[in-house]
Amino acid sequence: VTRVGIGYDSHRFTEGRPLILGGHRIPFDKGLAGHSDADPIAHAVTDAILGASGAGDIGQLFPDTDERWKDADSMRLLALAVERVFAKGYRIVQVDCTVIAEQPKISPHALMIASALAERLGCAPSDVSVKGKTNEGMGFIGRGEGIAVIAVATLEARR
Ligand SMILES: [Zn+2]
Repeated sequence: VTRVGIGYDSHRFTEGRPLILGGHRIPFDKGLAGHSDADPIAHAVTDAILGASGAGDIGQLFPDTDERWKDADSMRLLALAVERVFAKGYRIVQVDCTVIAEQPKISPHALMIASALAERLGCAPSDVSVKGKTNEGMGFIGRGEGIAVIAVATLEARR
């Protein structure tokens, strides 16, 4: 049995916070606003694997009204979601994600982020893909107001 899930996340740029993407601190003059560390890659991938396994969504598992998740390391939340997916009887076969931002450039960090995700997901780095795109100057991304991430995850039943 193969199952596919999609995840989407976006956060607004803000001053005075580090920019965390896939658990890595990316050198940039702004960070992202949010209750946790506001890591949109970790959040989109978490929603993709939860969606594929039918285990709900990130807001149900880690509500932003819960003080436990304030400034949380979102890669730890991803690891907790992976445990949930395993408990449902699935393993993660493959994850593909697209990071949409005018700045910073994602490609110099893509391999490092993919291998960090793979470690949390329990798959090989070659089974995780991280790609960067701009929005060609259009909309909130184009105006440099924030970052959005789309992720797709493929799971299969564990045996
Ligand atoms: Zn988020």
